[in-house]
Amino acid sequence: PLPIDIYPNRRNSLGVDLAHPPEFEELTEKLAYWRADHPVARPTLMANVEHEKIEVRAPQSGKVVGHQVMASERDVDLALARATAAQPMWDALGGQARADLLIKASDLLEENMPRFMDLCRREAGKTMMDGVLEVREAVDFLRYYACEARMLFGAPQPLPGPTGEQNLLRLHGRGVFATISPWNFPLAIFMGPAAAALAAGNTVVAKPAEQTPLIAALAIDLCHEAGIPKDVLQLLPGDGKVGAALTSDPRVTGVAFTGSTGTAHAINRSLAARPGAIGTLIAETGGMNAMVVDSSALPEQVTRDVVASAFQSAGQRCSALRVLYLQDDVADEMLEMIKGAFKALVIGDPANLETDVGPVIDAEAREKLQDHVQEMIDAGFPVWRRSMPTDCENGHFFSPTIIEIGSILDLDEEQFGPILHVCRYPAGGLGKVLDDINSTGYGLTLGLHSRIDETRRFVEARAKVGNFYVNRNQIGAVVGSQPFGGEGLSGTGPKAGGPHYVTRFATERVTTIDT
Ligand code: GLU
Repeated sequence: PLPIDIYPNRRNSLGVDLAHPPEFEELTEKLAYWRADHPVARPTLMANVEHEKIEVRAPQSGKVVGHQVMASERDVDLALARATAAQPMWDALGGQARADLLIKASDLLEENMPRFMDLCRREAGKTMMDGVLEVREAVDFLRYYACEARMLFGAPQPLPGPTGEQNLLRLHGRGVFATISPWNFPLAIFMGPAAAALAAGNTVVAKPAEQTPLIAALAIDLCHEAGIPKDVLQLLPGDGKVGAALTSDPRVTGVAFTGSTGTAHAINRSLAARPGAIGTLIAETGGMNAMVVDSSALPEQVTRDVVASAFQSAGQRCSALRVLYLQDDVADEMLEMIKGAFKALVIGDPANLETDVGPVIDAEAREKLQDHVQEMIDAGFPVWRRSMPTDCENGHFFSPTIIEIGSILDLDEEQFGPILHVCRYPAGGLGKVLDDINSTGYGLTLGLHSRIDETRRFVEARAKVGNFYVNRNQIGAVVGSQPFGGEGLSGTGPKAGGPHYVTRFATERVTTIDT
């Protein structure tokens, strides 16, 4: 068995306690200071050509936050040439030295928490609490993967055996990794895969989401300040064309992607179609996440956890609850309490500490959610919606919504926003519920509220999901404790923040010496 804590010196980031007045006041002062900043996200290596410049606007207000410079084809080419040339040196540096640089970067990120929180709010519409959690997770990823670099990429591992020879196993970087990251965790999931690739000895070309290049640019600057060489970690902001140029280039040996299942399939096809070595794909994609509540559950606890799982971060988490199954003999009572808490949610400007639900990322996201609600109304399903405060008129706010449906099979795709679907199941019907959930093909998170151990064991054995949460909410996996990621349509694995992640970014080499 593994020791209880295989990384005794690793500590998760503590963040800031927003409920502690002195800490909160200090933070507010720093946030006000950064508000005047108008950053620009530019490729690390700018080719000598005209660049298209795009405004980045706050989802809650439409105000300009800064500018992104679209990487050109020439930038992609230059970045890959530099990354390819720098990789052997970075690999040869060894796990200990790489870890030292990642730890330095984690400290700089943590010191800059207020600046990141401010950008998370303005660029991604994140609430204060989500901003703190975002920075903590990014810092945790850097530190966790640094520990892995130290442990796995140091001295070679001797493999004693019957051959009578000396056998040594070494891990190396695969080459150049392209990391393609999402807007919903613009720092944590931008930094996490890049940090793992770097820890393993790869060089990295990082393409952030189009909506959130500024947070990514600041993170890259701080990594360079920490001493990670500029050719080893490069930023390439741009749209899908930049992503496609990266994944179709044979100099890219691996891609770490977080986003939609459709795009993961397209990247997989592109990796398969290009000439040269077979590329590695690590993909973390969507979910059709359910929670099952039986009649032994505690209603107050269920209410708290359902509301957090479905509506925190405006439902814009892969892990978020989409379909709640209530056992029918307690369904009315539970639903009444959930609706009560739902009515109390504060919707509005994420700059206010009391805001629970901020905006969704952009107009396109809002329209897609709106179309879904309309379809459900047209199909005759009962719908409850929150009325929108008047100060939300200028932003991409979407009113939190509850829709009662028959089963998860009434839905054809994930809705990435604050929409909770609710259905009922009869006592004795749990097996069918789990089969329906499994039949979607997704397998990311599943929640269960039950006081019956046998029920928990039954669900655990039957559900095909990556993260199973019992008697709590189903979001906010903690690095090192709750490695995160799914199976099937939800991703390839390995799990982010877990002990099998970094090795997937590595190649294994064995030397055999006959003495
Ligand atoms: N790791 C996050 C959580 O546990 C979700 C990541 C995502 O949305 O991609 O809530």
